[in-house]
Amino acid sequence: MLRLQKLCKEFTVGKGAVQALQDVSLEVKEGDFFTLLGPSGSGKSTALRCVAGLENPDGGEIYIDDKCVYSSKRRILVPPDERPIGMVFQSYAIWPHLDVFRNVAFPLVHGSKGRRPAKDDIRERVDNALRLVQMDGYQSRPSTQLSGGQQQRVALARALVREPKLLLLDEPLSNLDAKLREEMRVELKDLTQNLGITSLFVTHDQLEALAMSQWIGVIIGGRLVENGRPHDVYVKSRNRLVAEFLGTANTFEGKVVGSGSDTRLDTEIGELRIAAQDGLEPPPNVSVSVRPEAIQCSRERGNRSVNTFEGTIKRATFLGTFIDGEITVKNKVLRVSLNPYTPFAQGERVFVHIPPERCQVVT
Ligand code: ADP
Ligand code: MG
Repeated sequence: MLRLQKLCKEFTVGKGAVQALQDVSLEVKEGDFFTLLGPSGSGKSTALRCVAGLENPDGGEIYIDDKCVYSSKRRILVPPDERPIGMVFQSYAIWPHLDVFRNVAFPLVHGSKGRRPAKDDIRERVDNALRLVQMDGYQSRPSTQLSGGQQQRVALARALVREPKLLLLDEPLSNLDAKLREEMRVELKDLTQNLGITSLFVTHDQLEALAMSQWIGVIIGGRLVENGRPHDVYVKSRNRLVAEFLGTANTFEGKVVGSGSDTRLDTEIGELRIAAQDGLEPPPNVSVSVRPEAIQCSRERGNRSVNTFEGTIKRATFLGTFIDGEITVKNKVLRVSLNPYTPFAQGERVFVHIPPERCQVVT
């Protein structure tokens, strides 16, 4: 449905240049909710603006619905209002001098060159869009008298009013308070699913990305460094930066000893057995990433023969749904998510077990 091929965009800043996008290739399937996730300044908005036609790329190609809307080689550049897209900006960009109806009607009245629909048609389509975002009845409300959440809905209605094939969402939830943000996550996900509309969503919020998406593309420094289903991107990140950006990661580095099902790593906490990775022979030195919730912790050593290490609770921070534990093993401090119903005391001696299949080799 949407395909970016080796998309490049450079900005000149003073005498230097910023590579905002470097050979970004990705594909969003029809009806999917795809999230471009990355830290601030990684190129997310630039990518979205290129798809919308608001930014002119320097190289590559963009296809929307099998139609080429940009190609550097073939010199194609389709203007924004001829692309079948709707966009919601982080700032909402609601016109303060227009009421809700006129804001939502704006793309129909001004954006459809020579194809301006009839008055009744505009009324019907605006009403429909407002109904979708549960803002029916607000038509004549001045937009200065809307809460943040309502402005967000109006912006969404305006993006949907031309019945686009592709919805572009640039951090639309980041100005909402935590509770409303969580509600809107679910609502937005349901709405896009019910409409069957393909969505490209941009956020720097890992939880938002994990909760909402069918696919996540992680962009760091203008490069798409990982691309997959939320679970895989989180649990099987092959890239160390991605693993660290997506959550907390314990990283072990060491020399590989053994091979196949007997692959072990000589690390600073001792010998760590790791599950064979894709049948490949690992290089002599590797880094392995382990999530805090992948590690088990108990008072007794138990009868596990491998990957069990003795440690001491350095700190335990109660966070409600889990306890964020810091456990010292030899000279390394491990982050371990502990069960809030079985608290450990600071200074207590414990045993941690790291299941080999939860050790992910990263580069
Ligand atoms: P994100 O949305 O991920 O926070 P952006 O796509 O806005 O990042 O920006 C990517 C990089 O490009 C940043 O380094 C930013 O400073 C730079 N950039 C974006 N827009 C412009 C612009 N109009 N002029 C110069 N530099 C820009
Ligand atoms: Mg941005």
